[in-house]
Amino acid sequence: MSANATRIRELISAERLQARLTELAAEIESDYRGGDPPLCIGVLKGSVFFLVDLLKRIDIPLHVDFLQTSSYGSGTEPGEVRILKDVDLPLRGRHVLLLEDIVDTGYTLNTVLALFRFRGASSVKLCALLDKRGARQVEVPIDYCGFEVENVFVLGYGLDVDERYRNLPYIGVLEGATDE
Ligand code: 5GP
Repeated sequence: MSANATRIRELISAERLQARLTELAAEIESDYRGGDPPLCIGVLKGSVFFLVDLLKRIDIPLHVDFLQTSSYGSGTEPGEVRILKDVDLPLRGRHVLLLEDIVDTGYTLNTVLALFRFRGASSVKLCALLDKRGARQVEVPIDYCGFEVENVFVLGYGLDVDERYRNLPYIGVLEGATDE
């Protein structure tokens, strides 16, 4: 694919993303205020930009950890999810808030949510920046959702195409891609 033949169409502007994060942060802060500090776990690498911007807006004690799973193009069967990097902190008795960039088929989150419950977390909630509802293969309950997107491959704000575009401040879609 020639990089020159492609153009990025903006789907969600940086301003809309940041405004929605302010709303989500207020909701999360109010739900967890007064309880034990939640353990916020980001799914690497895509959630990093979103996690930092969101958590900086939350004014209650919380802990942060990361998990990395196999992703698109890994060559695994659909629905087969591998843990590439596990969390460092114990989950037993913790209120876990999982932060994911996008829920697509739902296979990744379905597996991770089940694993965290199995490990004895007191509660496991999911905050997803994007919900690609039209692509869902297994149902995954999203407690805090940023935006619903169409069934297209999106990029930017943590989401990559072959490791590119993660640092865009907005969410976009590639247009005009040709095989040259
Ligand atoms: P799922 O298991 O729900 O199908 O998708 C899990 C992972 O696939 C996401 O965390 C993300 O890394 C990747 N993914 C799914 N849809 C997209 C997309 O539209 N764009 C990008 N860049 N990654 C995606």
